[in-house]
Amino acid sequence: AELYGINEWGGGYFKIDNNGDVMVMPSPGCVKRAVSIREIVEGIEARGLGMPVLLRIENILDSQIAALNDCFLAAMQELDYKGTFQGAYPIKVNQQQQVIEEITHYGSKYHHGLEAGSKAELIAAMGMMTDKKAPLICNGYKDEEFVDLALYATKIGYKCIMVLEMPGELPLIIERSRKLNATPILGVRIKLATQAGGHWGESGGERSIFGLNTTQIIAAVDYLKQEGMLESLQLLHYHLGSQISNIREIRTAVNEACRVFAGLVQEGAQLKYLDLGGGLAVDYDGSQSNFLSSRNYTLNEYCTDIVEAVMTSLDETGVPHPTIITESGRALVAYYSMLLFNVLDVTQFQPDPLPEELPEKCPPQIKYMYDTLHTLSVRNIQECFNDTIYYRDEVRQLFNHGKITLRQRSLAEKIFWTTINEIARVSKELKHVTPEISDIERALSDIYYCNFSVFQSLPDAWAIDQLFPVMPIHRLNEEPIRNAIIADITCDCDGKIDHFIDRHDIKRFLPLHELNDSQEYYLGAFLVGAYQETLGDLHNLLGDTNVVTIRVLDNGEYEFVGELEGDSVSDILSYVEYDPKRLLVRFRKTAERAVRKGNITAQERREIMQAYEMGLRGYTYFER
Ligand code: PLP
Repeated sequence: AELYGINEWGGGYFKIDNNGDVMVMPSPGCVKRAVSIREIVEGIEARGLGMPVLLRIENILDSQIAALNDCFLAAMQELDYKGTFQGAYPIKVNQQQQVIEEITHYGSKYHHGLEAGSKAELIAAMGMMTDKKAPLICNGYKDEEFVDLALYATKIGYKCIMVLEMPGELPLIIERSRKLNATPILGVRIKLATQAGGHWGESGGERSIFGLNTTQIIAAVDYLKQEGMLESLQLLHYHLGSQISNIREIRTAVNEACRVFAGLVQEGAQLKYLDLGGGLAVDYDGSQSNFLSSRNYTLNEYCTDIVEAVMTSLDETGVPHPTIITESGRALVAYYSMLLFNVLDVTQFQPDPLPEELPEKCPPQIKYMYDTLHTLSVRNIQECFNDTIYYRDEVRQLFNHGKITLRQRSLAEKIFWTTINEIARVSKELKHVTPEISDIERALSDIYYCNFSVFQSLPDAWAIDQLFPVMPIHRLNEEPIRNAIIADITCDCDGKIDHFIDRHDIKRFLPLHELNDSQEYYLGAFLVGAYQETLGDLHNLLGDTNVVTIRVLDNGEYEFVGELEGDSVSDILSYVEYDPKRLLVRFRKTAERAVRKGNITAQERREIMQAYEMGLRGYTYFER
């Protein structure tokens, strides 16, 4: 547990049991109902679904919804806040039907609503939501169809709030609401001067793409007054960015927004809702710091600080406490999914054995390298490191000039890697080593080839170097004696994970167990429920993975509540505009020509066609 930091990043949902398995718990610290992920994997494979699998734990979603709502409500009660809290889950963070279904179903207890950023998301929300007291927030650029749909939703009785993202949307909304005889509920998104750090900080600040600046807001208010519709303006919205690691930035933004809120109330707007957007971060590395992959606050602090900041700002101006809305997405869904995959092969950078003696006719550079190896000690470690690199480079140059044979070069490389391994071993006896030498461990780390695609399943790890906790899901009662990086099965040099979470820094390799022939070795990438499924792409035509959803029952048993087969090869090919039936016909003709030419027999053609058809129906990942 210590080695992989599971107690720090796991949010209380994961632990390691005495058998060395990672256990998942339906709610934080609920050890009595802990379930072994290895057992779940065995169950999945017994049912005929292969790795990789995206495993979702339905209860975790419920627990996260409850935690966010309970925490805000408790903070409000404690501070005597007069308004209330409501969540609006942003569909973009994970649009899967199962996710929205569970959020609308379990969330209705808290009137937890949805945020839609496009027509498609609004259509999904209208089809899924039944709770009329929950907010349905419409962000994003709106055309006439989008506006009409939102107005119809309001007419039906949904608390559907259209947020102005651009000044130009207002005349359209007013025109359509008159035409459809509907009274819109409006919000306005503001551009805050406050800007947060991190990957996604540009959602805030004056240069943010969406939102109105103060002049545009005043113009919108005047326009609404002129049209006699100011009472429609009920919500103030901002979104500072996702994964805000620093609580100070959150507080500063709330203060600024509250000033605007009070200003709008002074202008005569009857604002009821203050919508703070997303930003509640996930502590992916467990460091509880303001690193990009962490957050320097707890959920409790987040809620208390927001409620306190709203009260402090608004009480000064005598403005009544609004309903606070947050559009937390990442924090709600990240914990709920994990990607499970098996290891297919390993490359180890262990040097091949050296001969007892060097051959007689050996270039001097190779002799120097051999001597360097044999004189290596704690005292001359840096000198040996410099020498062996120097001579290795010389040997390569001589080889390129045709002065050294391939066999001699191979011998030099063997001596080099033996020396580097020895330096790594000897350096462990030293307290301080140069950065070059401490980097050797990384350079010598193994490559574990794993059955998944970074581009499909962990796109943020590739695109923005986002860190996710990765670790074995079993054998954790054995010492992991190898250091490794992870490569996926795409043939892309970016298809790898070579940065790993650490509470103090970023680790450049992951401790893993040695493979054994009798047992598959499974790893899990955790906290992947937010954004990853949606952003994944079809690089190398590796498609959606199999998805399994389980629910842990009160007695600690669990049931499979959802199984979705991943894309077949045929599915993937049709996404990129092939017609699998035509492909089959074309290939059959090619095979028939080969029969005619005598390259294959008719019987062989049958076997080849069977293999081709099976391939089309099969999973896009490695199948054993
Ligand atoms: N609301 C809006 C308008 C967003 O653009 C986003 C995503 O960046 C979110 C909410 C969700 O943010 P988070 O996942 O950080 O909670």
